[in-house]
Amino acid sequence: MSRNFMETEKVARMAVLLKQKGFEVRVVPDLCEMAEDHKEALKTLEGTTVMACHERAVRALLAWRGVQAAEVLNLRTQTVEEVAAQSGVTLEEVSEELLEAYCRELANFPTDQGHDAWFPIIDRERCVSCGKCHDFCLFGVYSLDEDGQVQVTDPHSCKNNCPACARTCPQEAVIFPKHEFAPINGGVQQQEMAMKIDTKQLYNEALRERLAARRAGISLLKKK
Ligand code: SF4
Ligand code: SF4
Repeated sequence: MSRNFMETEKVARMAVLLKQKGFEVRVVPDLCEMAEDHKEALKTLEGTTVMACHERAVRALLAWRGVQAAEVLNLRTQTVEEVAAQSGVTLEEVSEELLEAYCRELANFPTDQGHDAWFPIIDRERCVSCGKCHDFCLFGVYSLDEDGQVQVTDPHSCKNNCPACARTCPQEAVIFPKHEFAPINGGVQQQEMAMKIDTKQLYNEALRERLAARRAGISLLKKK
């Protein structure tokens, strides 16, 4: 992962607290990457409590792969105390030794594998199947299924840091969990800056890429 919204110490403290209480705990480096590339591993989260980012984003991410968590708690913006209270876990001192061991383990998570799992997910509770996100994206990230419903079928083709299609959605149903601001990251608070997206520039950029690819194809043909 190339960006991390979770403080290592906070995640480690929560993990140790739960372990001390006898819960089985698994910490993963990047839930988006797991959903994108490790569907089978993601399925093991069915019926569990998942502590990650904004609930709407996490539920939509899991639902994309047909997984339903029993509970989703937001460790991105909430404190350990708040999350513990929500999950009914009583706070207690955690073992410093275990805490250090967890911090070391988390610090050793892979941070740059050349791929940052960045792609849109659709909040089905909000989507009205208007198709605008599908029509806007020139990179084939979306496709339509036989019922005319938009599906994210090629997440790897999404342009890193481009959240453009989210802004075309009339329902705020397109989520990029790793975006900094709500509502694009699935957060409920309207904290997004008044960032005016230059859609014309985005189209031009995309078109330039397509034309370059086409030209490359033509010159290859000519050489034959
Ligand atoms: S633009 Fe929004 S409402 Fe329309 S199909 Fe895409 S996600 Fe659904
Ligand atoms: S963010 Fe950009 S590249 Fe990614 S799906 Fe949306 S329009 Fe396509």
